[in-house]
Amino acid sequence: MADPIHITTAIFYCNGTPHVGSAYEALAADVFARHQRRKLGADRVSFLSGTDEHGDKIRRAAAAEGLAPKAYTDKMSALFREAWQGLNVSVDYFVRTTDPEHEQFVQQMLLESKRRGNIDLRDYEGLYCVGCERFYTEKELIDGQRCPTHNTQVELISESNYFLKIDQYREQVRRHILDHPDFIRPERYRNEALNMLAEPISDLCISRPKSRLEWGIELPFDDRYVTYVWYDAFWAYVSEPARRLGFDRFKRDIWPHTHHFIGKDILKTHVVYWPAMLLAAGFGADQLFKHLNVHGWLNFGGARMSKSSGNVRDPVSYERAFGPDVLRYFVMRETVYGLDGDFSEERLIQRYNADLANDLGNLVSRVLSMAQRYFGGEVTAEPMTIRGAAEEPLHTGFTEMAREVRDLTEELQFNRALERLWMRLDVANKYIVETSPFTLAKDPAQKNRVAEILANLLESLRVVADVLEPFMPVTARRIAEMLNVDDELLRRPFGEGLKPGHRVKPPVALFPRIERTGA
Ligand SMILES: [Zn+2]
Repeated sequence: MADPIHITTAIFYCNGTPHVGSAYEALAADVFARHQRRKLGADRVSFLSGTDEHGDKIRRAAAAEGLAPKAYTDKMSALFREAWQGLNVSVDYFVRTTDPEHEQFVQQMLLESKRRGNIDLRDYEGLYCVGCERFYTEKELIDGQRCPTHNTQVELISESNYFLKIDQYREQVRRHILDHPDFIRPERYRNEALNMLAEPISDLCISRPKSRLEWGIELPFDDRYVTYVWYDAFWAYVSEPARRLGFDRFKRDIWPHTHHFIGKDILKTHVVYWPAMLLAAGFGADQLFKHLNVHGWLNFGGARMSKSSGNVRDPVSYERAFGPDVLRYFVMRETVYGLDGDFSEERLIQRYNADLANDLGNLVSRVLSMAQRYFGGEVTAEPMTIRGAAEEPLHTGFTEMAREVRDLTEELQFNRALERLWMRLDVANKYIVETSPFTLAKDPAQKNRVAEILANLLESLRVVADVLEPFMPVTARRIAEMLNVDDELLRRPFGEGLKPGHRVKPPVALFPRIERTGA
């Protein structure tokens, strides 16, 4: 039996609202999860997202709104959960790092790491950035004194803290990446990761004295401290499924098949901290995750979309303005996974009108209208049994489409998968022009030929609805409903689906053209 798969988005730090950039990651992971459910069966796929809710930045954001940290994260976490629901992101788990079960799990991992001798208490004096909530070495800083992320003056702080000995695993992790060429995808990030592990790394300070910060998970072996927010958040990938399935079983059978979807800005933490954290807590060398699937940034008018740059847009607003699946289609079609993409509303409207209203919407509507007008919605010929020159491109194109789209999706080449699908819409649209059923229908002697052409086109739409599902689940469902096919019939190979006697429904408009230029 095929291996199960565990798919995760990043655990989103919820000191800001979800934006199109974070939605892009959730949507890419969702396309992949839906693809895997089709391939492996829904019960072999788990898909997890969640919110990262501790740390000083959350405490300060809450204080700025006059709220207690938990009240603040209740509100912010709900926004993420609702956004994912609004975008049809089909998560099985939505984990909050303030869930008591998660907190207990993190304490269990801390205890286990300490028991194994991988955590110790050290007197420490270091240069600390409040914004980053971490210590820096002098050479990491700008002019030896300013944070490379915030460009603010760091503070010299001396205190005792607990450290996770991560440098001891550096060579092992580096070796793992070398031995598993597709551990980090796409390859450009693999090379970056190897560079990060080429030099000694400082052990990770995993405690924060409560005198400085109370909003965190208390260390189970020293109640004067809470744990560092990154240490806490990583375990959200594991805590809830491990609780539901049993830790040992999850760790052994499912965890090694984990695909993380992350942005390139957190590559370093996922390469330098996370594998070492797993190894330190007793996960075996063969129990690291399987893939780190790294995406670029979605820029808005050339600037990175982020909380701090002020160009944040509510992703669900696009869903409300343009209809379901439109944002998904746009970001998956326009962006090469791994590279930066550019988001523009103007471009979205262009794509909407050309690809969705014209290529897809018109095709569905024309074919179903003709089926109603000429045959009262009944399929009256066996699809693809008579193949003349006109049918050849249809036959070749649609027979290969499902496999091509599946293989490209497996390789995270979402934009190319959609290109291949749209190539076939083009083939079907050309078939209508070439065979001209609306002209033939005027001649009663051509009735059988018109029946064949429509059967072929309806069969093509059936396969489109099937293959489109991971990318545009609502649209795929609507087309399947108009075609009056159930899941079993939907999944059949091209040419083996619709039979004479099957009845389709009248068309319902999928994507009405947009004439305006703004949302
Ligand atoms: Zn900083």
